Amino acid sequence: MQKTNRTVIKEVDWPKEIRLLVNKKCNYRCSFPDTGIKWCHEDGAHFFSDDKEASFDDFVFTARALKQPFHLEKVKIAGMEPLLYHRIGDLIKEFKQAGYREVSLTTNGYFLEKKAKELAESGLDTLTVSIHSMNPEIYSKITGSDSLDRVLRGIARAKKAGIRNIKINRVMLRFDHVWQDILFFIDWAAKEKISIKLYELIFSGCLDQKSYFSNYLSWRSLLGYFCKNGRLKEVRRFLISGRERLFWQLRSGVRVETDIFNQKMIPKIASFCQTCPLASYCQEGLFSYGIELNSEMVLSPCLLRDDLSLDVWDLVKARDGKRLFLSISSYIKKLVD
Ligand code: SF4
Repeated sequence: MQKTNRTVIKEVDWPKEIRLLVNKKCNYRCSFPDTGIKWCHEDGAHFFSDDKEASFDDFVFTARALKQPFHLEKVKIAGMEPLLYHRIGDLIKEFKQAGYREVSLTTNGYFLEKKAKELAESGLDTLTVSIHSMNPEIYSKITGSDSLDRVLRGIARAKKAGIRNIKINRVMLRFDHVWQDILFFIDWAAKEKISIKLYELIFSGCLDQKSYFSNYLSWRSLLGYFCKNGRLKEVRRFLISGRERLFWQLRSGVRVETDIFNQKMIPKIASFCQTCPLASYCQEGLFSYGIELNSEMVLSPCLLRDDLSLDVWDLVKARDGKRLFLSISSYIKKLVD
């Protein structure tokens, strides 16, 4: 068959994913390198209570109960920092035993050296590590931790332990010599045979506006570089959230993923967003990561709006899988249809 260089476009009606934020703790405090003002928006975790924390069995029950009725294929483990979760390996094993095709985990990498073997042996399919600069000094300024070398050692350990699919997340931030840093990062990823994801800094109400303005950097400045050194291989369109993921294949072998956030007022977008007052500056969109539940068993479909949360704590604690599914599906229907 003849090989084609045409970009593949895929439309995704509904991401078949569940994202579980397994804890509320992080050992980093991600901040702008020049001012030290925090930019981490805690991934829209929407925590409401200090003393509510789901148990190990709650997470396992939820992942099992929702898998079949929602046709879920992937479980994404995140948190604040999921490697601080005490039984992370057991959790991964449970999700694999429940029949999930892919279990992934996103981490800052600080504890990876110690945990890599456990993650690999538990059956983790995809590991994503966040590194926002390859310059040790800038890395420490951003994270508050002088640990870039330690994180890189953790990645090497993860490869050695046999985790096949490793990706690096990088939030694009402006600092001196940033493009040099990014090109070094891309070359390093090619050498290590690791994929990378470049994210633009997402605006949210908790961010300092002046800092956002002076630190924002778009990956689009790399378009010329991508065009010269590779091609756009695939576009995935997430219809409900109005978000696109672009996959660039570079000749060096590295695969780069970038995001595009469309306007939220196009016809296929979730109906609720079409009249949302925040739509004009909303980036991620609704149900961008599928079903997302935090460690208080609160479902949060939107980064910017706390009022859109659905509390399923009582249904999970009652182990009532049928009502849990009905409650979440009617909530989705109300916002999306
Ligand atoms: S802020 Fe939330 S509800 Fe409003 S457009 Fe964005 S995703 Fe939709």
